[in-house]
Amino acid sequence: MSKASIYIETFGCQMNISDTERAASRLREAGYRLCETPGEADVVLFNTCSVRARAEQKVYNRIGEVRHARVGREPLLGVLGCVAQLEGEAVFEHAPSVRLVAGTRATDRLPALIERLRSGEQRVLDLGERLGDESWEVSPFERHSRYVAFLPIIEGCNKFCTYCIVPYSRGRERSRDAAELTDEVRRLAGQGFREVHLIGQNVNSYRPRTEAGLEGFKGATPFSRLLRALGSTGMPRIKFTTSFPRDFHPDIVAALDEHENLCDWVHLPVQSGNDRVLRAMRRGYSAADYLRRVDTIREARRRLSLTSDIIVGFPGETAAEFEDTLRLVERCQYDGLYIFKYSERRGTPAAGLPDSVPEEEKTARFQALEGLQRGIQSRLYRGYIGRRLEVLVEGESAKSETDVKGHTTCHKVVNFKGDAGLHGQLVWVRIEEAKANSLYGVRCRESSASAPTVSRGEV
Ligand code: SAM
Ligand code: SF4
Repeated sequence: MSKASIYIETFGCQMNISDTERAASRLREAGYRLCETPGEADVVLFNTCSVRARAEQKVYNRIGEVRHARVGREPLLGVLGCVAQLEGEAVFEHAPSVRLVAGTRATDRLPALIERLRSGEQRVLDLGERLGDESWEVSPFERHSRYVAFLPIIEGCNKFCTYCIVPYSRGRERSRDAAELTDEVRRLAGQGFREVHLIGQNVNSYRPRTEAGLEGFKGATPFSRLLRALGSTGMPRIKFTTSFPRDFHPDIVAALDEHENLCDWVHLPVQSGNDRVLRAMRRGYSAADYLRRVDTIREARRRLSLTSDIIVGFPGETAAEFEDTLRLVERCQYDGLYIFKYSERRGTPAAGLPDSVPEEEKTARFQALEGLQRGIQSRLYRGYIGRRLEVLVEGESAKSETDVKGHTTCHKVVNFKGDAGLHGQLVWVRIEEAKANSLYGVRCRESSASAPTVSRGEV
């Protein structure tokens, strides 16, 4: 049978993007053709997110849209990832046109699962674990960017925060060996990648089964040793996300101080500024514990940018408890903040609590927090005006064909005039304008690169 063409649509976090990259690599190796749109594909796969109810609903809506657009020549439809893992057989009932349901650890088996369907099986379900010898290799052509590579260092989560579905959809924590990761970073450098993002639900809970690759790299935790090992590879930039506050050891900041290619950014989600709510969320730290970590980050040699996630309207959160969150945000002066309204997830401990904060109140809290953060961010972003920042040029700007865009080491988006010849280069840009979520500047010619860069305490 000739091989089919496949389109994969991805929802959710970087881990899902990375899973899609791996799935696409395996499918192409097996002879399939990957397409850019669902219009002509023989097989359409949705790699799904279930972290909030709305993300889950979006997938079913998209399945309806694709079917509608392809009436009379419907593709073979499959659901992958978190929704598949959690719902299993129920996906077939919810969306009877779906014929493949493959969970978060079935990536390597996709070619075989699709072959079974194309050979006549009506429905195929795989919610199994990864096999021991599975490959993490990703073809450079399947990566989401030519210059920035996602590198999963740990899968799954053992924390079981009471609101969160991830430990159920992604299973227990499994860390990859440092030797394999070091080899991969070196290979990525050889392929022209300039920045690597170490990804995982909680990267700093990294705990590999063996010492391989960490020998000779000292540190208080396996994660800070891994940072030193990868910092020594020569990769120009290394970022990591997400860090779990309870496991955020000061030695991580020490490692960043030692290696300039470990970037100036820490994403440290706090979720709430109130101790009772943090306990009810089972986060394992108090607001004071969290602020001590923030103080360590603020004492780094370079100015590290700090971002966070917050959930508003957790069951039982009172107005006074929410005020504590506002105070903590004021104190932390985050460079960026993702705000989420609490969304009940079936099967989590918090789903048993009365969802006591009315929707309008959740919206009011969301807006209050958003307003506060807008003010903080605007002040911080304006502080960059007149300064030089090094930008990795990742591609054409979304807004103007004559502009290019990229990120700084502190993970800010910068746009400036430039052409495709700059793609993949690290260039200095003098910032002239601050927008709500990005900066605008002009490229510094080496001779005029005299504007100051940013150091601790200046922004
Ligand atoms: N492991 C990371 C941590 O502990 O901070 C977070 C990973 S989670 C996939 C990403 C974010 O989704 C969380 O930080 C949280 O703010 C948000 N989130 C998770 N479950 C949620 C829920 N039930 N309702 C609303 N937001 C939720
Ligand atoms: Fe979810 Fe908590 Fe695990 Fe983060 S640490 S993925 S919020 S259970």
